[in-house]
Amino acid sequence: MKITALAGGVGGAKLAHGLAQILPAEDLTVVVNTGDDFEHLGLSICPDLDTVCYTLAELANSETGWGRADETWNVISNVEKLGGPAWFRLGDADIGTHLERTRRLKAGEALSQITKDFCAAWGIKPTVLPMTDSAVRTVVDSDEGELAFQEYFVHRQCQPRVKGFRFEGVASAQPAVGVKEALRSADAVIFCPSNPWVSIDPILQVVKEIEKPVFAVSPIIGGKTIKGPAAKMFAELGIEPSAYAVAEHYRAILRGFILDVEDAALENKIQNLGCATLVANTRMNHPADRARLAEETLQFIRSL
Ligand code: GDP
Repeated sequence: MKITALAGGVGGAKLAHGLAQILPAEDLTVVVNTGDDFEHLGLSICPDLDTVCYTLAELANSETGWGRADETWNVISNVEKLGGPAWFRLGDADIGTHLERTRRLKAGEALSQITKDFCAAWGIKPTVLPMTDSAVRTVVDSDEGELAFQEYFVHRQCQPRVKGFRFEGVASAQPAVGVKEALRSADAVIFCPSNPWVSIDPILQVVKEIEKPVFAVSPIIGGKTIKGPAAKMFAELGIEPSAYAVAEHYRAILRGFILDVEDAALENKIQNLGCATLVANTRMNHPADRARLAEETLQFIRSL
């Protein structure tokens, strides 16, 4: 079965890793959000793309959910000593990624080509694609005005109350080479348990339509996120955060929805939105959990 998965960072990377463990590499494409990308210290940084790649390459720091395992921090601590901006933590090995990517982008190469080459260097077999090669930048409208995404997410630690989102540059952005084809040739499209507002929505705005059946795994369990501001965002936008709220958010395109055992009581209500449901243990604490959830998701898709 050919799968195209849409992913943000932490939650997206975990399920992508599970899928990569059980699917033949040629049957898996992961399309990654680049709305979180930004330029910082002269570097082009792609946080979600790097989280997905480091996770697939088994180089990721599983405790933080971002960055690399066994990092050292010499560069950023020296930036800090000199009074420079150190709020965005960049490890030394990670900086190597950003330096080389920045060099190649400045030489006019496309992010998708650079990502392809990095994946080959890291031994990543499935295809990983940025959603677009154009600059699309998520802007958070908040009670403190508009904030660039990383300013909101990392520098302000998601404290401002959100009022909405816009994705600067999205109107003219084309999907990266391979994205449309991956969506067309897939048997099913899986939305990983990523933030609906700022990880999946930017990808949907770039690709515009998905013809193949869509399945989503809830990033919200028991009304809360495992990490990150998705539940806080739902609440601040006046929507009670829940697995139901996630399903409702995607209802126009959803064929099936995977919710956590903890939320089993919401199953009927979600089915009433017109989609099939699977209740599963969706907490991916260990690599084995990722493969198990990926396998259950594929079985669910096959059963329909
Ligand atoms: P970000 O761009 O780094 O914030 O990453 P994502 O958008 O991909 O992921 C954030 C979401 O992942 C949050 O809403 C988390 O609740 C969710 N998440 C993280 N780990 C897990 C997990 O093990 N299971 C599920 N179901 N969701 C998870």
